[in-house]
Amino acid sequence: MTSTNPKVLIQDLPTPEPETPCRPRQPYRFSTLCATVENPSQKDQYGSSSVPIYQTATFKGVGGQYDYTRSGNPTRSHLEHHLAKISSAAHAFAVSSGMAALDTILRMLKPGDEVIAGDDLYGGTNRILAYLKTHGGVTVHHVDTTKPDTLLPYINPEKTAMVLLESPTNPLLKIVDLARIAADIKERAPNAVIVVDNTMMSPYLQRPLEHGADIVYDSATKYLSGHHDLMAGVITCNRDDLAKQMGFIINAAGNALTPFDCFLLLRGSKTLAIRMDRQQATSMLVAQMLDRLGFKVHYPGLAEHPNRDVHERIADGYGAVLSFTTGDKALSERIVGATRLWGISVSFGCVNSLISMPCVMSHASIDPATRAARGLPEDLIRLCVGIEDPADLLDDLERALLEAGAITLTAGGDSHQRYVRTIPSEGTAISRAVQKLAFNESAGYATERNEDREWFVSAPGKVILFGEHAVVHGVTAVAASVDLRCYGVTTPRHDGKVSVHFIDIDSFRQEWEVDDLPWDAVTPVRVGDFHPDSLDHKLVDAITTRALSPEVLAKPSARQACIAFLYMYMIMAHGGNRPSFNFSARATLPVGAGLGSSASFSVCAATALLLLYSRIQLPAQPAPTTDGHVHVSHEGRRAIPPALAEEVNRWAFVSEKILHGNPSGVDNSVAVFGGALSYTRPGFGRKAGMIPIQGFKSLKFLLTDSRVPRNTKQLVAGVAALKEQEPEFVNGLLGAIQHISDEAQRALADPQLSRQTLLSALSALIDENHGHLVKLGVSHSSLEAIRSKTASPPYSLSTKLTGAGGGGCAVTLVPDDLSESNLRKLMTALSMDSFVPYLTSVGGSGLGILSPYNQPQLLATPPETPREGEAGAGAVELLRDTFAGKATADLSAWADSLGRWLFV
Ligand code: PLP
Repeated sequence: MTSTNPKVLIQDLPTPEPETPCRPRQPYRFSTLCATVENPSQKDQYGSSSVPIYQTATFKGVGGQYDYTRSGNPTRSHLEHHLAKISSAAHAFAVSSGMAALDTILRMLKPGDEVIAGDDLYGGTNRILAYLKTHGGVTVHHVDTTKPDTLLPYINPEKTAMVLLESPTNPLLKIVDLARIAADIKERAPNAVIVVDNTMMSPYLQRPLEHGADIVYDSATKYLSGHHDLMAGVITCNRDDLAKQMGFIINAAGNALTPFDCFLLLRGSKTLAIRMDRQQATSMLVAQMLDRLGFKVHYPGLAEHPNRDVHERIADGYGAVLSFTTGDKALSERIVGATRLWGISVSFGCVNSLISMPCVMSHASIDPATRAARGLPEDLIRLCVGIEDPADLLDDLERALLEAGAITLTAGGDSHQRYVRTIPSEGTAISRAVQKLAFNESAGYATERNEDREWFVSAPGKVILFGEHAVVHGVTAVAASVDLRCYGVTTPRHDGKVSVHFIDIDSFRQEWEVDDLPWDAVTPVRVGDFHPDSLDHKLVDAITTRALSPEVLAKPSARQACIAFLYMYMIMAHGGNRPSFNFSARATLPVGAGLGSSASFSVCAATALLLLYSRIQLPAQPAPTTDGHVHVSHEGRRAIPPALAEEVNRWAFVSEKILHGNPSGVDNSVAVFGGALSYTRPGFGRKAGMIPIQGFKSLKFLLTDSRVPRNTKQLVAGVAALKEQEPEFVNGLLGAIQHISDEAQRALADPQLSRQTLLSALSALIDENHGHLVKLGVSHSSLEAIRSKTASPPYSLSTKLTGAGGGGCAVTLVPDDLSESNLRKLMTALSMDSFVPYLTSVGGSGLGILSPYNQPQLLATPPETPREGEAGAGAVELLRDTFAGKATADLSAWADSLGRWLFV
C-alpha cells in the first residue's frame, strides 16, 4: 500500500488465526476495523493508545522515512493506512477537502479527453467540471446516469478518459447502477477510469471498488469524520498506476491533509459504523412517519423508491439523508423554521440532525430553470439525520409540521386522535396515488382517463422588450409574456381518427386514420425520457411524404403545424396507446407578427398531447372545504408545478424546431413560464442562458402590427454584414444595447424603485434602444410612422420596434396615467393608418390548463360521447363547438368565464 510518502509500507490488520479447526474465526468485521487503529509497520515508541499529532513541517536528517510534511507525515500515514483498511482498498490518500480529492483525480486528464458525468451531481463537482471544460480543453458529457443506456452513445474507446458517478444523488436520492455502468464502460472503453463520489454512503455502506470502480473518493467532511469540525477528502483505489499518479499530484500540488486534521479524522472514523447504524435506523423511522402522513418522500429504504433493488444489490444500507416535498414552498419554509432540534444548515453527515431547503440553500446557485429541468422541487426539504434520540427527532419534526400547518389532528376511525396531512390550497404535488384518488372522487367517475375528456389549454405570446438583433451577437435580450394568447381544445373521437382544426389559418381542417399514419418510421420517446437533441428527420420525412396531401403541402403554415402536431403525436405514443381525438387551436395573437404565436401554439399542442398520453399529471385537487366547494387554488395562480412546466417546455421546443428550424428556446420558455426573462447566447464570454427576471411587474404595452412583412433572415444577415464592414461602429452599438438590457433588468427587478421611476426609466431605454436599431438599419418607414404618431402630443409615448423580423411590430410603453380616451384615440388613429394595434399587458401568466376539478359537467365528456359529426345530436354541448364559434375579441373573456385556470 502507498501513502503520499511512497517509502511507507502499510499492511492490513491481519485476520485472526482460527482458535481451533472446529471453531474457525471470521475476519474482523467493519466496526472492529473502524475502532482498531493499528499499523504494524508504524509502532509508536511509547505505545501511545492514540496516534500522536506530528505537528511539524520538517524532519531532521537525511534519508529518513520522512523529510517534509507536504510529502509525508506519520500522522497522515496512520490515517491513510486506516482508511485503506476500512475501504478494503490497496491505496488511500487524505487531502484537504472533498473537492481537493476530486481536483487531484481530475488532474490526470489531458486536453482532448472526454468525461461522462451524471447530470445530477453535487454542485461543486459541476463547477470544477465546467472550469475544466473552458480552461482544460476537456469535453464533459452530462447524462442521466440513472438510466445506464443513456451513457452508451457517449462512450468513445479513444477519447473517453473518465466516467464520474454518484449514487444515491443528493438531495433526491436517485439511484445509479454503478456495477452495470462500470461493466458497460470497461467493455467499450477499457482505458476509461471509473470514478465514484461515495460521500452519501461512506465506505461502511458502499464500497464501489468492489463493483468495478477504479477510484472512489469521499468528502470526509461528512460521515467519515462525522462531527462537522474539519474539512477533508479521501481517495481510495486498487490500481498501482493510478495511485502513483495521484500520489505525485498530491505531493506536487501540496493539498494533503494537515497533521492536526488527520488526527481529528482518524478519531472521527473510529465511530463511523456505530454512528451510521444509529443515523440510518432513525432515518427509516423519519421516512416512514412522513410517508404515513402522505408526503412524497425520497428515501431508498422505502419500498416504492425507484431503483431500490439496484441500491440493495450494491449498498449495505440506505444512508441517513432523505428528502420530502410538501406541495408549497412557503409551507416548507415554515416547517424548516419551526424545528428546534434539527439545525438549519448545509452539508450532512454530522452527529447532529440537520434540515435544509436545497433550492434556497445548497442548490441556490443553480438557476431555477435548471433546477426545474432536473426535477428539483422548490418546496423540497432535506433531512440529514443525526444520532440524537429518535423519539426526540420525530417529536420535534411532528411539532414543526403541526406548527407550520402541514398536518392537523383529527379523530381516527377508532376514535383515537391522529395526525393527518393538510392538503395545501395551491401548487400541491402529492403522490400519484393520492392525486388519482382525488381526481376520480371529485369528478365522480371512477375510471376517467385523460383521453376521455376535453382539455382546454392556453399559452401566451412574447414580446422582446430590449436587445433584439444584438442578441445574435451575444448581447442579452429581455423578453416578456403578453396577455394575447394561443388556445387549444382537445375533444375525444371514437372513430379511430385524429384531426386538427387550425381556426386562424383559414379554418384549416385535416384528419387522419390513426392506423394509416407512418408508424414504421417512429422511434418512440419513452415516458420519462427526453427527446434527443436533434429531430428525427426520418419521421419528419415520413409524415411529410406519407401523411400530407399535396393541398396541405401547398399551405406552408398549416403544413408545418400539421407536421409538428403529428410528430409529437406519434413519437409520444407508448404502450399501444394511440388516442383518437380532435385538436382545435386558435389565438388572440396576430400570427406571423413576431410575437411568438408559433411558440404559444407549440406549447398548447405539446401540453394537450402530454395530457392525453398521461405523460404529465396535474396536481391533486384540494380537499373540498366545509361548504362543499372545491377551491382549485387561490385565483388559480401558480398551481402548475415547475417540473410539469419544464416537461411541456422541452416538448414545445421540439415543436418549435419543426416550425422554425433553429429556435433559441426563448419564445417557448416565455410561453410556458410567463413573466419575463433575460437571454444571452452562449459563446460570447458572457454568462449564457435564460434567467427569469424575478419580481417583474406587469406593464401595459401597445403592440402595433405594421403589417409590413419582414424577412428575419435577411435583416439578421444585414446586421452581420454591417458588423463586418464597420466593426467598431457596430460593436459600439452592441455595447450600448447590452448596457440598456442590463439597466432594464436591474430596474424591472428592483423592489425599491417606485412605479413612476420605473416607467420613466423604461421609456428612456426604449427610445435609446430604438435609436440604436435604426443605426443598425433594421427599422422601416411604417415603423417610424408608428413611432412618430405615438410620440406626438398629447400622447408623448416611447416606442421601439420589437423582434428580429416577423410582421414588423412596434411596442409602445403605456404609462399608468394615460387616460382611457387618449388611448382609444391613439388606437383609432393607428388603425386609420392601416396598422393593427393591440393593447396588452406584459409579464403575466404562462401556460394555463383549465382545471378538470372545476365544473366537471362542462369539461368531462360523458361516456357516451357523440361521434364526430353527431355533436348536434343534443346529448352534450362540446366545448370545442363554442370555442370554434366565438369571435376572436370575445375569446379570452369566454375562456376566463369557464372557471379557474391552473397557471404556471
Ligand atoms: N461530494 C458530495 C456528494 C458533497 O456533498 C460534497 C460537499 O457537500 C463534496 C463532494 C465536496 O466536499 P468538500 O465540501 O469536503 O470539499
